[in-house]
Order: sequence, then C-alpha cells, then structure tokens
Amino acid sequence: MKKVRENLITYTIDKAIFGNLSILVNNGEVIVKAPWYFSKQRIQDTIKENKKWILKKLNEIEDVTLYKTTKILGINYAIKINYSNIKAPELNLKNNYIEIKLPSNLEKKNNSKIIDIILNKMYIKLAEKHLENVFEEIRIETGLAPEDYKIIQDKKEIAKFDYDSKEIYVSSKIMELDENCIKYIVMHQLCHLKYKTHAKGFYNLLKKYFPNYEKYEEILKDYKF
Ligand SMILES: [Zn+2]
Repeated sequence: MKKVRENLITYTIDKAIFGNLSILVNNGEVIVKAPWYFSKQRIQDTIKENKKWILKKLNEIEDVTLYKTTKILGINYAIKINYSNIKAPELNLKNNYIEIKLPSNLEKKNNSKIIDIILNKMYIKLAEKHLENVFEEIRIETGLAPEDYKIIQDKKEIAKFDYDSKEIYVSSKIMELDENCIKYIVMHQLCHLKYKTHAKGFYNLLKKYFPNYEKYEEILKDYKF
C-alpha cells in the first residue's frame, strides 16, 4: 500500500494479483485497487478521469452527523451517523469511532431509539467475546467458575450472582468499563460462589486474587453489582 497525491486527491494503491481496477471511497479515504501490472501512469489517468465522482464521494463524508460519544473498554468513541442507500442499519467499529449507517429514508428523523438498539447489539456482541476470555482467564488463575453466565441488558445492575443457581448475570453495559474493572466485577461475582454475603471471608478471598480490591470498589462505587 502506497499513498499518492493527485490534484488534492490522496489515494492509496492496493496492488492485487487478481481482478480489475476499482476505486473505493470509504470514510474520506480513497483506495485504488489495481492489478499488479498496471503502471503508475495508468492509475493516475484513471484517478483523473474519475476525479469528479471521487470528490463528490469525499464530500458526502462531510455530511456525517456526530451523534454523541460512548465508551468501549474505557475508551471514548465518537459515534458518526451517515445515511446511505441500504435496507438495514449497519455498524462498523473503526479505530477511534463507531460508524452507524442508516437507510436514507430515515434521514432528518429522530433516530435516537434505533441508534440505542444498534449500540446495545454491539455491546452484547463485544461482551460475548470479551467475557468468555475473562471467565477463562479467572478459571485458570483461581479455579473459580460459575455454573453458567448470561449476558443481559440491564442498566441498573452491571452484574449479579444468583446464589441458588450459581449463575452469574452480566449486563452488556459492562463493556463500557476498562478491562481491569470488568475483571474485578467478574471476580467479585465469582467470590460469591464461596460466600453469599459480603462477610469478612468474602473480602479475604477477594483480596487473595485482587490485592487492591478496595481501589476497584471505590472506582465502581456508582455501579450496582
Ligand atoms: Zn457482591
């Protein structure tokens, strides 16, 4: 991949073994996919020929609406909404922002509810992936494992332990917190496998695995778990 500037259009050339020449404009970036045998001149000419179309596409990106920000693993992500000719909404997680594409017929409407649903789905997906690793990591470290765990959509409680079924419920919203906080919350729930209440024994066990548990209790004091 090589960056080239041509009459104010900066583009990246992606040389391929197969296929024809194609131009992709995505998130303000122009990518030219060219067969390996295409000369620089031939690519430049194609860019020139399609300049009008490329500039039009690049300007469309400017229309993006900045919705709000949200956190994933403790990191702030801007949410960018754009509208295009699609049937169902799409979400793409980029390096430093979340791109939500909505069908153009929703443009100029209040879409906050739809956006919330899309974001919730994203948090569930992320939680499914992340929590599996966290539970496995803790199981290896401590031998503690729940009967089962479920990802739920609960805004009030970030996690809870069911002493009778020995199951742990984790809200997908946990994915807003950073990795250490997530691990701490899961560990806290797992210590309830041995101690139902927050008795001395409970905290002794927690301390064994999380020596600085008090720090996390303080950071997470506004969360219910
Ligand atoms: Zn507890």
